[in-house]
Amino acid sequence: MIHRYKNNGYNIVLDVESGLVHVVDDIMYDVIGAYDEKKEKTDITEDLKNKYDIGEINEAIKEVDELIENESLFTKDVYRDKIDFKKRQTVVKALCLHISHDCNLACKYCFAEEGEYHGRRALMSLEVGKKALDFLIENSGNRKNLEVDFFGGEPLMNWEVVKELVKYGRSREKECNKNFRFTLTTNGVLVDDDVIEFANKEMSNVVMSLDGRKEVNDKMRPTRNGKGSYDIIVPKFKEFAKRRGDKDYYVRGTFTHENLDFASDVLHYADLGFKNMSMEPVVSEPTDSYSIKEEDLPMIMSEYDRLAKEYIKRKKEGNGFTFFHFMIDLDGGPCVYKRLSGCGSGTEYMAVTPWGDLYPCHQFVGDEKFLLGNVFDGVKNTEICDEFKLCNVYAKEKCQKCFAKYYCSGGCAANSYKFHGNINDAYDIGCEMQRKRIECAIMIKAALSEE
Ligand code: SF4
Ligand code: SF4
Repeated sequence: MIHRYKNNGYNIVLDVESGLVHVVDDIMYDVIGAYDEKKEKTDITEDLKNKYDIGEINEAIKEVDELIENESLFTKDVYRDKIDFKKRQTVVKALCLHISHDCNLACKYCFAEEGEYHGRRALMSLEVGKKALDFLIENSGNRKNLEVDFFGGEPLMNWEVVKELVKYGRSREKECNKNFRFTLTTNGVLVDDDVIEFANKEMSNVVMSLDGRKEVNDKMRPTRNGKGSYDIIVPKFKEFAKRRGDKDYYVRGTFTHENLDFASDVLHYADLGFKNMSMEPVVSEPTDSYSIKEEDLPMIMSEYDRLAKEYIKRKKEGNGFTFFHFMIDLDGGPCVYKRLSGCGSGTEYMAVTPWGDLYPCHQFVGDEKFLLGNVFDGVKNTEICDEFKLCNVYAKEKCQKCFAKYYCSGGCAANSYKFHGNINDAYDIGCEMQRKRIECAIMIKAALSEE
């Protein structure tokens, strides 16, 4: 399968199965398109003879034949029959610890219902947290690096337990031959010197939630008493990022129907001095006023294009930043399982509630159908785990024909469930955006490799 598109003056052909990207001239672009339509060579020449010189057409046909011969174009899927996802042994590699089902903000789109996840307000006790880390160690097989995300609600509302858990994790690393990589996801309200100092020493990554421009952020992310949060959190995040030095962090936002010009919000992060950022489309009920609708897609597509152009410009000027969705790995990236089956929710990655229940990921928390077990007794509902294990691009009809399959890995199971009632489908509006981001990311690579 190939995917052909034009973007920002480039003619791009992605050979989907091999992952090779060809930046071609107009004639090659048209000839490859004709091959894709399974046209005979004589018909190709006939169809294109009014547009190009016959000698050039024949030259392009020869070149395409060579690319096919060299397995660089129209290559076949070599994994499909070789990989048995059911038999694949998985270990738990990552936990999302819901340290606090409580929050000091009242974001309008909050999937966690302001931190409470369809349930009660609760903070994770040190005892449950320790059990969760023990569970991770015990179920991680030979894997050395273990990821733990301190998540909420707002994890800083239970900061002392976070610190104690980091200490506990570190104390077990040596005896168990493990290495914990901690991440803190925070809305910033309670960030202070102690948080910055501790996180910069212990957290491999920090995710700072902010929705971009002040008016956008304050509309969607008010405090509990209805005031804007921008002025409280931006100075703290700036200080946090500055003091992180070389350590990873990123500013993460959500865009909605209310700010379809979201490229301006991403650029606002860069103008504030942040270097790493991401901006995700909101996933909400279609009836929510801020939800993204199909008719918003043309504007969203042109915003990704605008962002991509500015991204290239700033990179070339030496003033670049990273945007998560444009950081594509064209050299094969992670192992093929990962490329085909995505985030590993429900098998390699699980979320833990404050009272120790296990769910496939934070988006399923509170939905009893997806309760996997708990950190005290382990995973009991292995049927659900198996269902998640089989959730991959080959299991999803839409994904099999999609050029983005090796980069997107079949999309988000939770979004599929939300819109289609099962985890083996795909959220169509999300797919359109995903494909566009991948097109932009590949174009950016082409543009930046010209230097
Ligand atoms: S900061 Fe996070 S948990 Fe708190 S209300 Fe906003 S989205 Fe929800
Ligand atoms: S973009 Fe959609 S259809 Fe394509 S691989 Fe991802 S989830 Fe599947």
